[in-house]
Amino acid sequence: MAPKPRVRFAPSPTGELHVGNARTALFNWMFARHHGGSFILRIEDTDESRSALSYQVNLLNDLSWLGLDWDEGPQKNGSYGPYKQSERLNIYKEHLQKLINADLVYPCYCTEEELEEERQALILSKRMPRYMGKCRNLTADERKQRENEGRKHSFRFKVQPQVIEFEDLIRGAMKFEGEAIGDFIIVRSNGMPAYNFAVVIDDHLMGITHVIRGEDHLSNTALQMMLYKAFGFASPTFVHHSLILRKDRAKLSKRHGSVSVGEFRKQGILPEALINYLGLLGSSFTDGREVLSREEMIAGFALERASKSGAIFDEEKLHWLNAIYIRNCKTENLVERLKPFLEQAGYKTDAIDAKWLNEIIELVKTELTTLAEIGSHIDIFFDDKYEITAEAKQILEKESAAQVVKVFGEYLKTAAGNPRENYLAAIKYTKEEKGAKGKDLFMPIRAALTGKVHGPELDKVFAILGKGAALKRLRLATS
Ligand code: GLU
Repeated sequence: MAPKPRVRFAPSPTGELHVGNARTALFNWMFARHHGGSFILRIEDTDESRSALSYQVNLLNDLSWLGLDWDEGPQKNGSYGPYKQSERLNIYKEHLQKLINADLVYPCYCTEEELEEERQALILSKRMPRYMGKCRNLTADERKQRENEGRKHSFRFKVQPQVIEFEDLIRGAMKFEGEAIGDFIIVRSNGMPAYNFAVVIDDHLMGITHVIRGEDHLSNTALQMMLYKAFGFASPTFVHHSLILRKDRAKLSKRHGSVSVGEFRKQGILPEALINYLGLLGSSFTDGREVLSREEMIAGFALERASKSGAIFDEEKLHWLNAIYIRNCKTENLVERLKPFLEQAGYKTDAIDAKWLNEIIELVKTELTTLAEIGSHIDIFFDDKYEITAEAKQILEKESAAQVVKVFGEYLKTAAGNPRENYLAAIKYTKEEKGAKGKDLFMPIRAALTGKVHGPELDKVFAILGKGAALKRLRLATS
């Protein structure tokens, strides 16, 4: 029996979790869950200048919110830890020593400026910019001299002329020319390991069987293959999925709207909708269905079916899915999820009768695309928010409309029974009395009762408002 796969999501805490990275996490998670393997979370925080603890905290929160639970990683035990690279520096040091002993690396004393100069010169002469090995063959004396000058050094890996090949599960056979790759840095001059170095050591020591990540890492994989060989490690299976693009095929970036999981969360996208949407993006499930539960996504997931070309991010479709999830959410549960959004819209949820709020949400939930829209849908039920819009005013200004509202109100005053019966009887009476029907009958009453020209079914709105509130509004609207 093949060993259970071990996959990892290895974010760098240098910003908010981008939906593209969330999709990488999702692919890894679905793969692990589909095969009964392990999903590992590793924090790649060796770039001290760009990493921040707050990003790390948000990252863990966002992943938890999405329901992408990890089996090993921060806040979890695991026998392959630590799971934060900044806590693994000794491991990298030992591995560096191994490469030094094997004469596969050398110290490089070049400064940023010198490197940039070399880069520009290569570009000018139309050659591939890369490190040309200036420090590779320094003598012991020359090294000493640079150290005496106070120069700090990084360590570079000696790239041999070779063809680097690997098999990608989505892309097939991949080939890179070693010629085009300069000796690359594995340990920076501040002593911190470079990404390509640390990632190989960690993936190996953590027993990772499949590395699933975005295609922007393809060229890194070529470098990593060299390190696997240098250490004598067996390489994992590589899987590079396509990236998320905008409709015009440009990279999905902050400048063009929401891109982080946190932003979608704030907008009131439900995690199950976002997960469903990201799972569909550039991937397909056997029967072509689009609304899938987590379990269905896990069962139907196959990396091989992921598309090679970029996946277009369509926010409208995300909203369409979100509306479906909101509609299907149990009302009591939805009310809880809506509370922060209600508070934000100025509603004191503690002061609202729970049963009444439930009835309102039950009625308006079919109209919501995001949770953040809630305020503008429930305001019609709150007297202090009652306001006649310009459109409603226009309708009520007509004499015939004013008459409809007046007759409706007069009948209502004397009507007995429950609010629903009151409403139906008052409508029937007004219809007979004024000969009004359809839009001419309902629009003026809607405009007067809610102050708006659109909204949920009027009989249901009335039932929630009750006779007293309704009469007050009818008076206000016609005064
Ligand atoms: N820390 C890297 C990133 O966030 C990880 C890439 C990888 O999965 O190897 O891009």
